Amino acid sequence: MSFSPQIAIAEPSTVVATGTGTEIARRGVSFDGNSVVLVASACTACDAVAWPPAARCHACWAAVTPRRLATSGTLYAFTTVHTAALGTEVPYVIGYVDLPDGVRVFTPLRGDASRLRIDGPVTLHGAAGAPGAGFWFEAAR
Ligand SMILES: [Zn+2]
Repeated sequence: MSFSPQIAIAEPSTVVATGTGTEIARRGVSFDGNSVVLVASACTACDAVAWPPAARCHACWAAVTPRRLATSGTLYAFTTVHTAALGTEVPYVIGYVDLPDGVRVFTPLRGDASRLRIDGPVTLHGAAGAPGAGFWFEAAR
C-alpha cells in the first residue's frame, strides 16, 4: 500500500519543504535559510499533529498537511549518557521537549547542561550537516 498525497509548506515568503506526504515524513527537519525548522504533519480532518511527521493521520488516517512547529518549548525530561557505542563521544545529553503544538520531541540537548531544568524553557538550534539530524535544543537564555 502506498500513499503519496502532494503537499507543500507555503508561507508568505518562504517555502521550507515540498513533496509528497511520504517525502515530508522522511524529513521532519528542514532549513529556512540558516534556521532549522521542525516540520510536523497536521491532520486535515481532526488536526492531530505528529512529529516525526507521518504520511497519514495517526488518529483517523485522513490526509495530512505539513506544519512548522514552534522553536521553543519546555523540557519534559533529560539524562546524560556516559556509555555509548564505540566511536560515539561521551558524555552527551538527550531528552524530551514539549512544544506548544502538542508534540513531544526526543532530541539531543547541547549547551551548558547545568542550566537544564525539568519544565524549564528550551529553544531549538540547528546546523545543516550537524549530527542528530541537524537539530538540538538548549536551555533558553
Ligand atoms: Zn486525524
